[in-house]
Amino acid sequence: KPSTSSPTTDVKKPIIVIVIGMAGSGKTTLMHRLVAHCHETGKRGYVLNLDPAVTNLPYGANIDIRDTVKYKNVMKEYGLGPNGGILTSLNLFATKFDEVVGLVEKRASELDYVLVDTPGQIEIFTWSASGAIITEAFASTFPTVVTYVVDTPRSTSPVTFMSNMLYACGILYKTRLPLMLAFNKTDVTQHEFAVEWMEDFEKFQDAVECDKSYNANLSRSLCLVLDEFYQNLHNVGVSAVTGAGMEKFFQTVDACRVEYMENY
Ligand code: GDP
Ligand code: MG
Repeated sequence: KPSTSSPTTDVKKPIIVIVIGMAGSGKTTLMHRLVAHCHETGKRGYVLNLDPAVTNLPYGANIDIRDTVKYKNVMKEYGLGPNGGILTSLNLFATKFDEVVGLVEKRASELDYVLVDTPGQIEIFTWSASGAIITEAFASTFPTVVTYVVDTPRSTSPVTFMSNMLYACGILYKTRLPLMLAFNKTDVTQHEFAVEWMEDFEKFQDAVECDKSYNANLSRSLCLVLDEFYQNLHNVGVSAVTGAGMEKFFQTVDACRVEYMENY
């Protein structure tokens, strides 16, 4: 069926979805589910794997760092351990990232979502120059959102929840991009408690202060910081295993696209 829209005025850029989170939070499994959901619903997705050390990738990636950099060779060549090998591999890849952005740009008019998986250990992406270079290269060319995957069953203790949220807060602060929290593994633990804590500052503060070992003044101050932080983000509960929450996930990404357009 021929398109009636003008090719010059109707070129809509895809949104880049950078998936980060603590090791084991379920980034790769969630990526798999997101890709499957795109296929099922006719959303046009493009998939990048930036984890050089993943052995079994459950989804097909359009661009895979492992095709360019062999992290085990990098370890040998530079005399590094696993973490150094992964970090150096990402650094090597980042030096050519303009080519990756170029590839995505060429396909831009045919794409809705560009899904980006990152290394298992979060700090390799969030505390490295290459993570910042990659994020910046995308964000200066396309609407970009950061998805912070939370291991919900492992975040039910108020103090753990708080430290996880502070980490996410640091990411918002550093990237200044729209941020969405994806509370994963809701098949194991529903994320209602988290929504309640984020919506009701006092409930969260009460919960944190139940932990008597915690410095009450510091905890009160941190609760205030987080209350401000929660005003600036989106959240969604998902299960990468059952596929719960996928529709809402993409609706939230679309809301972040609007936010990006208004602010960046
Ligand atoms: P990554 O290190 O963040 O990429 O995490 P993975 O995707 O490799 O997942 C880590 C572990 O969590 C694996 O054993 C997954 O099967 C499990 N996992 C991921 N998502 C879910 C989920 O939604 N529910 C449950 N029950 N397990 C999950
Ligand atoms: Mg992974």
